[in-house]
Amino acid sequence: MSSITIAPPPKTAGPPIQKETTAGNYFVANYPPFAYWKPEFIPEFTDALNRPPVATPTGVAPLGLYTHIPFCRKRCHFCYFRVYTDKNADDIKGYLDALLRELSVYAAKPIIGGRKPKFVYFGGGTPSYLSPDQLKFLTDGMKRLLPWDEAEEVTFEGEPGTLTDHKLRAIRDLGVTRLSLGIEHFDDHILEVNGRAHRSKEVQRAYAYAREIGFPQINIDLIAGMVEETEEKWQEAVAKAVALRPDSVTIYQMEVPYNTGIYQQMKAEGKLVAPVADWETKRRWVNYAYGEFEKIGYTVTSGTTVVRDPAQVKFVYRDGLFSGADILSIGVASFGHLNGVHYQNHHDFQPYVDAVLADRLPVHRAFTPSAEERYIREFMLQLKLGSVSAAKFTQKFGCSPWDQFAQPLATLRDQGFLTHDGDRIGITRDGLLQVDRLLHEFFKPEHKSGRYA
Ligand code: SF4
Repeated sequence: MSSITIAPPPKTAGPPIQKETTAGNYFVANYPPFAYWKPEFIPEFTDALNRPPVATPTGVAPLGLYTHIPFCRKRCHFCYFRVYTDKNADDIKGYLDALLRELSVYAAKPIIGGRKPKFVYFGGGTPSYLSPDQLKFLTDGMKRLLPWDEAEEVTFEGEPGTLTDHKLRAIRDLGVTRLSLGIEHFDDHILEVNGRAHRSKEVQRAYAYAREIGFPQINIDLIAGMVEETEEKWQEAVAKAVALRPDSVTIYQMEVPYNTGIYQQMKAEGKLVAPVADWETKRRWVNYAYGEFEKIGYTVTSGTTVVRDPAQVKFVYRDGLFSGADILSIGVASFGHLNGVHYQNHHDFQPYVDAVLADRLPVHRAFTPSAEERYIREFMLQLKLGSVSAAKFTQKFGCSPWDQFAQPLATLRDQGFLTHDGDRIGITRDGLLQVDRLLHEFFKPEHKSGRYA
């Protein structure tokens, strides 16, 4: 087998960086960190539901709807989500009933304010674990409660091994516009040692049929740095991804949170370093993938995404999440944001279902970010897209990012990661490849030591 070394991205002078992959979360998904969300703040959330949506200087926030389906065929060794592999048809029916009952409570609250969802997202877990009949039951019920006929995008996450032709047609017929396939890798050995349920043959079959029946948009997910990844295997995986010509590709760098099977094994063996590539190697691999896609005309649109045609291929859910949209999230462990308050549901199946059946909101913790924290959140999340408009933030928050974030922006500039082009504040390619680490510069001092759960 040939041994080719992928060239590193251009070096930038940055802060000292942890080289090895050790246990813990890396990805910044929200702010303030989840560790600061508390049960005692739930009354602030329930009060917020009883008020109509607040108008900001840029208008009333759009509404999005997220539904969590927590079932999977197998638990991947790197998975840190709350998923269930042992639920039977009755459990699933009970869960779908609970989702509809939960949604019915929100749909009757003043917070909806006559809005229809602008975007809808089915995430997991594995939404495609559900049968066509179960999906129809769920979505028909949801549409009756909160019609999504004005949604610009309906995203549905699928695990290739669950996607029969019949099911793919059923998913398309629900009105799904964006199918997101959790491929992660194309090598059967790597898929197996990382605990994935599907194999490459299923990927090719599901992708080909999804294309044939005309999903408007197909995204594929890959992970750089899975257990036993090598230079050659990564290059082969990227070549296979390129050959599919998906509308967009999301590439994550493998992290090993504490609640993963990989960490459990590390603990049992007394190891501090995870058996996956170090951070520098993972960044180099993602940069290589970006380069291969750029060669055929794709555009890098975030620290994790390349897109075939940015003028055509949008990701309305992500853009809404990153710009302060109201996100009504239902399902076990799901988190959302309504009328200025963050909330998260119960982590476990039975407490979630029991709360809904007892006509209680199944919310486990909440947090009301201050105006400053909302500014930090939006600015950080949008910086993950590579650059932001200073004028847009000034208009929305009444203060220029250059004043609000003078210190962290100076730090990024001194480290060589900052770019500045007219109105746009951005970060370099090297910065984008490690953006989640850099974002901690923007955290308030009291949040810097918080565990990022
Ligand atoms: S398919 Fe996704 S959600 Fe399910 S176990 Fe694997 S990583 Fe977790």
